[in-house]
Amino acid sequence: MTGITTTTLADGRELIYFDDGASAKPRTAATTTDHRPLPERGEPGEVRFDALTDEWVAVAAHRQSRTHLPPADQCPICPTTPNNPSEIPAPDYDVVVFENRFPSLGPAVGPVPSTPAWGTTGPAYGRCEVVAFTPEHTGSFSGLGEARARTVVEAWAHRTEVLSKLPGIRQVFPFENRGADIGVTLHHPHGQIYAYPYVTPRAGVIGAAARKFYDGSDGRQTLTGSLLRAEREDGSRMVMEGENFSAYVPFAARWPLEIHLVPHRQVPDLAALSGEEKDELAHVYLDLLKRLDALYPTPTPYISAWHQAPLDDLLRPASYLHLQLTSPRRAADKLKFLAGSEAAMGAFINDTTPESVAERLRAVVVPESSPAPAATAPAALGALPEGVHA
Ligand SMILES: [Zn+2]
Repeated sequence: MTGITTTTLADGRELIYFDDGASAKPRTAATTTDHRPLPERGEPGEVRFDALTDEWVAVAAHRQSRTHLPPADQCPICPTTPNNPSEIPAPDYDVVVFENRFPSLGPAVGPVPSTPAWGTTGPAYGRCEVVAFTPEHTGSFSGLGEARARTVVEAWAHRTEVLSKLPGIRQVFPFENRGADIGVTLHHPHGQIYAYPYVTPRAGVIGAAARKFYDGSDGRQTLTGSLLRAEREDGSRMVMEGENFSAYVPFAARWPLEIHLVPHRQVPDLAALSGEEKDELAHVYLDLLKRLDALYPTPTPYISAWHQAPLDDLLRPASYLHLQLTSPRRAADKLKFLAGSEAAMGAFINDTTPESVAERLRAVVVPESSPAPAATAPAALGALPEGVHA
């Protein structure tokens, strides 16, 4: 069992230690007390309703002052040392989750206005959390051991369950942005969790398609379950198949590199996975990340996005947990930029075929315990212009 210790930082933010099962010991006040003099937390920013698209937009101008690529000795998510009183009071940890000091949403929670129209605004309610995957400042998720990856899975599941119960929350989204090329502002291996007070635009589109299919089968089949079955039967886009999870490049992939990891059983979210499923997830997720990193001589920037069922009575019964792992990298030294067609119209043009990408990913011989690749931007990619929108 993962050891879980909850504490509060000097400004009232919640911080939770998740300690690897085998070595989990209760944590004492001596290692969980935050001695920093922190200013009080601010009020939430603002959400504005975009009447043109029926979507909410969060306005978070206060985030401009947030930490940007600090040197290693000032890293806010390394363990605390006498010279670096970081966000994490303990001198060591395994996995830590804490409320973001510069949140796009929150810290207060509550609902968005229920009948918005042009000009409707509201507080940017919600919650933004940071998930530190390891106390090591360098490396990346793919270099974690399986026990540590399992602790991260437990943390995702725990946070999904807790955040789903907060007032007004409609969607819980664990994700990782990896690589400075896609806007990472801290090199230390970490992910994030956003709890939104509305169903996000993409989750809304995916949820509506899932519900339509579900209704068409009189509630006997799910869209994602059917796609998974079809992909496994076809085989040409499969990347790996396990007991409880399989991964494939989707039939109509949008990104140069795109992998969907899907549980064999319909579950709404990570909190609904069994212990056995979580064990396998830690293994197969590491396997996929290692495959991605083996494609090129340098680490590949990626976005790892957990699609969980929205907290919505209509969408939830048809929804199906899955991971969408995407990268804009289309060659060793080239990134795809979202330009006119994609950024303006949402109409993707993919320069790679899903079948050829799946073949390359399948062909990777995954080392059992490969050294962690450096998380910093490789020279080849670092030379590219900034501003990839993802
Ligand atoms: Zn660090």
